Amino acid sequence: MARGGYAGKILRVDLTARELKDEVLSPQVLRQFVGGTGIGARVLYDEVPAGVEPYDPQNRLIFATGPLNGTLVPGSGTFAVVTRSPLSGFASAGHANGFFGARLKHAGYDAVVVHGCSPDWVYLYLNDGRAELRDAAWLVGKDSWETEMALREQHGQKGMDIGLSVACIGPAGENRVRFAAICSDRGHVASSGGPGAVMGSKRLKAIVAEGSRGIPVHERDLARLKGLIKGWIDSASSSPFGRAVSKGGTAGFFSAAENMGWLPVRNLTANLFPDHPSFDGASLRSTFKTKPRACHACTFAHCLLMQVTTGPYKGLVVEEPEYEGLAAWGSNVGIVDAGTALMLNDLNDRLGMDLKEATFCASLAMECYARGILNPDDTDGLDLSWGNAGAVEELLRRIARREGLGGLLAEGVMRSSQRIGNGAQELAVYAKKGFAPHVHDPRGRWSILFGQAVSNMGSIEGSSLELSAAPDLGFPEPIPFFSKEMVPKAQARTGPKRQFEDTLGICMFLCQGSLQGMVDTLNAVTGYDLDKARALEVGERIINLLRLFNVRHGLTPDDDSLSPRLREAIPEGAHRGRSIDSVFEEMRRAYYAEMGWDPETGRPLPQTLQRLGLEG
Ligand code: SF4
Repeated sequence: MARGGYAGKILRVDLTARELKDEVLSPQVLRQFVGGTGIGARVLYDEVPAGVEPYDPQNRLIFATGPLNGTLVPGSGTFAVVTRSPLSGFASAGHANGFFGARLKHAGYDAVVVHGCSPDWVYLYLNDGRAELRDAAWLVGKDSWETEMALREQHGQKGMDIGLSVACIGPAGENRVRFAAICSDRGHVASSGGPGAVMGSKRLKAIVAEGSRGIPVHERDLARLKGLIKGWIDSASSSPFGRAVSKGGTAGFFSAAENMGWLPVRNLTANLFPDHPSFDGASLRSTFKTKPRACHACTFAHCLLMQVTTGPYKGLVVEEPEYEGLAAWGSNVGIVDAGTALMLNDLNDRLGMDLKEATFCASLAMECYARGILNPDDTDGLDLSWGNAGAVEELLRRIARREGLGGLLAEGVMRSSQRIGNGAQELAVYAKKGFAPHVHDPRGRWSILFGQAVSNMGSIEGSSLELSAAPDLGFPEPIPFFSKEMVPKAQARTGPKRQFEDTLGICMFLCQGSLQGMVDTLNAVTGYDLDKARALEVGERIINLLRLFNVRHGLTPDDDSLSPRLREAIPEGAHRGRSIDSVFEEMRRAYYAEMGWDPETGRPLPQTLQRLGLEG
């Protein structure tokens, strides 16, 4: 039985009845699912039956921490948001780093489970084990940064990052844009699957968490605990990915991504982006002014504030975008000025939208415009030519307000393309469950492409085993980029590891090191006695429970697939001519078999569920 790591209770919020109730999770559930996405998956499966649609008041919105949150483990401010997604109709789990996950624990809660729908806009205030709903009418219409700063001032904390944390929605969430995000600690965004739209449907504008409660830790020998943490974090920092992120942020991969043919260029119609050097991390950090802004207890400290020093947005201060933000608002929409991409990334966060879906919606509209499928009448006069930054800016605002073409695009890439018609479906970039992919050209990297197709939530649940070996998982050497045999195997073995990591409440960048170090630290904090195999089994259990949830809500093998654009051959560059199309179905069957699922239906087999202690 665990003795440490948990605050000891979760909060139930019924917004219809305006009732708040503490509840204790059973030790068995904690042991089987640990925290984060795991706890969210258990609650979602148990409480959202077939027929409960994403905007139904009975849908659950679960904010969940893990046992390492709020401890001295670096990067332990991360939290998970789990719900039934309005984009796909299946399960979704988004994560955000920063401080909120730590402060939710310091406020006295391991998780907050919200259901119902408030008649008026409210926010939830949590402080040292107490919870109350307060009026939020005065916050409606404010963007995510304005909302956070207004609530900070309301609660006597004017500076950034100190004292309390706010997780909130912007205008996109209020207007139920299907890919609305939940933003916390300015610039940390839980967005996959559109949890902000579910929050908006419940008229919950924000959660404020503050408190001073310590987190009990099982290990009495503090020196031993610190030694374990140090060993693990050192292994993460010295991994190739960890070293690079720690030094230059994920933007440091921008030029490498272009060289490898992984950069999305103009809705994947091209593969080369000659302006890539000015977007690369080293160039950004030498051109623009920066100020460090680390998350809770983080020693990687790769997050920065950045001030634009050249071009039309000179003087603007924003969060430094990750690689994906730069690709989204640079190459994918044809913008060649890095300062402009920073402005658009900041705007997208403030409006409160998932950048994956937002950029592939914008680039779909731009390609349709270039091909004459959309004309100026359809765009209310917006000139959506590639690279027109003013038009992209206005388009994002219209999406958040659901105005004109923006209202159509607010439905997400898949639905928008169906409604536009006239061949737009052939151009749209999405995995068939209804999610846009991460902001890569994944056709040049099958582990990402295949992983997004078959994952329960359309996210990257697998690791990039073509870039580094993973002896812990049985891969002593990196796997080939385009192997129809190795990619499904790698997905089946790395998915459980990623899901296990997502139970802990720490940033994924800190999870690049030894699995043994991670498990030892978890055991020391909680008092569990997991070994590596049992840890991976936790991840496998979560994947299977989410799959059962998705099957209940209508999942078929066709949903584990890709849009026509993602099955096309790459038009140019390092991997010109490559396509997954002819081998995709064979790979999917192989993955199902590796997972212990029926190779034809993708449903978990009874013996698999029995092994994992799950019901059928
Ligand atoms: S690595 Fe970066 S995102 Fe992760 S916790 Fe540290 S500063 Fe935050």
